[in-house]
Amino acid sequence: MIARRILFCASEVYPLIKTGGLADVAGSLPRALNKAGHDVHIVMPAYQSVLKHLKRPAKVLVETGVQDYTVRISQTTLPGSRVPVLLVDCPELYDRPGNPYLDDQGQPWPDNAMRFGVFNRMILALAMNRCGLQWQPHIVHCNDWQTGLVLALLSSERKRPATVFTIHNLAYQGVFDRSAFEQLNLSDYLWHYERLEYHDQFSFIKGGLVYADRINTVSPNYAKEIQTSTFGHGMQGLLQHRADRLSGIINGIDTHTWNPGTDVLLAHKYNKQHLDDKLENKRALQKRYSLPEKQDMLLLAVISRLVEQKGIDMLLAVLPDLVKRPVQLVVLGSGHKLFESALQAASQKYSEKLSVHIGYDETLSHQIEGGADVFLMPSRFEPCGLNQMYSQRYGTIPIVSPVGGLFDTVVDASAENLQAQTATGFVMQQANEQALLFAIDRAIDLYQQPEQWRSLVKIAMQQDFSWEKSATAYEQLYEQALRDNP
Ligand code: ADP
Repeated sequence: MIARRILFCASEVYPLIKTGGLADVAGSLPRALNKAGHDVHIVMPAYQSVLKHLKRPAKVLVETGVQDYTVRISQTTLPGSRVPVLLVDCPELYDRPGNPYLDDQGQPWPDNAMRFGVFNRMILALAMNRCGLQWQPHIVHCNDWQTGLVLALLSSERKRPATVFTIHNLAYQGVFDRSAFEQLNLSDYLWHYERLEYHDQFSFIKGGLVYADRINTVSPNYAKEIQTSTFGHGMQGLLQHRADRLSGIINGIDTHTWNPGTDVLLAHKYNKQHLDDKLENKRALQKRYSLPEKQDMLLLAVISRLVEQKGIDMLLAVLPDLVKRPVQLVVLGSGHKLFESALQAASQKYSEKLSVHIGYDETLSHQIEGGADVFLMPSRFEPCGLNQMYSQRYGTIPIVSPVGGLFDTVVDASAENLQAQTATGFVMQQANEQALLFAIDRAIDLYQQPEQWRSLVKIAMQQDFSWEKSATAYEQLYEQALRDNP
């Protein structure tokens, strides 16, 4: 593969700042590309929490004017790597406490269009080598609406880099009113329904969807789904129109953090040769959750944001039937208060069978992956999903609905797939209650056949979800974008 210069543009990058899956990708993919020999620079806003996270102050490279603001570009590195991170630093816009998008009332910052408009104009200057850094990328890789405008701005440049736009969650689109469009001094030409206008409003994400040389999303199946009205959030027509440029690449996972053989958060480390040690984690988990310590009772788990997307209503609906079966269920999550209190009430009612921990707890999430037999993910939509991949690595068999990345990463334990030794979990036939119960019953049956179960667990544990594999797919996407760049 030819070594390329890549400008990776994201609004959040783990571990500097994270609100969602985008940060995980932005913290991992550039690292993997760097290892593969590419010259990757990340660019992100200098949020207050990012600046606080730095051990040493970032080195100021340039200072310039954008709109009516003075903006500096300073440089640091991605912690634990050599990947340079360019920080777009403008205290008036980014030096605020808390969340990058929302104020302390949970409302979008009122100047978000300007905040990300300035960020995008700065990326444009970097992409065109107009900042005096003597570095011009071959590829500009933008992610989600916060960087969508870059692609529209670049489209009118001669000799521009090739562009890729990745959709991590189409539900967020960066839509503002016309006055925001005017404040950003954008060309009137862009105010058109085939460009940035969306039902009389101004859409950042359309910049990416209309103008990128290549568009991708975080699983091949979600790439198909978003071309339908059920999953397209109003963008299905445009995405169908660009279908020849649209593809999907599954996210990798952090295989160092999520490794049952080295995980210090587990009571007992284990691997597929020593599966009996997993039982020690099961015992510890039952104890932690105050459930009867029964070794041969199928232990189900959920770790999730407690929101509708994740099928929590479905889970609540099947609970009365579920508790009649030979299973236990542990839940870790937080989210909608209604779901939190319904789960807590159910755990009091069925205290021998169900135990719930409300909150966000990374240590406990590892212990659950280490101790449970089965992981439930009955999501209604799921661009990629991570836990079904962590679960497989931990030999905790996932039960998933047949959507998005779940469908792409779990091979159903049908008789045929079990025979072929390719099965890694249970894929529900539909995203509904009956299908969830049916899949759980199939798991209960197979669990009664210890040899078959053990074989399923071992095959799940062998799956390769590393970033190296995904990075290779991105390298190919970049080459396609270079070929498509007019
Ligand atoms: P999403 O980004 O839509 O929430 P993903 O499956 O892609 O769903 O990623 C969610 C990540 O957050 C997983 O790593 C999951 O383990 C973690 N997570 C979610 N809720 C909790 C929680 N309450 N405690 C610990 N980790 C959690």
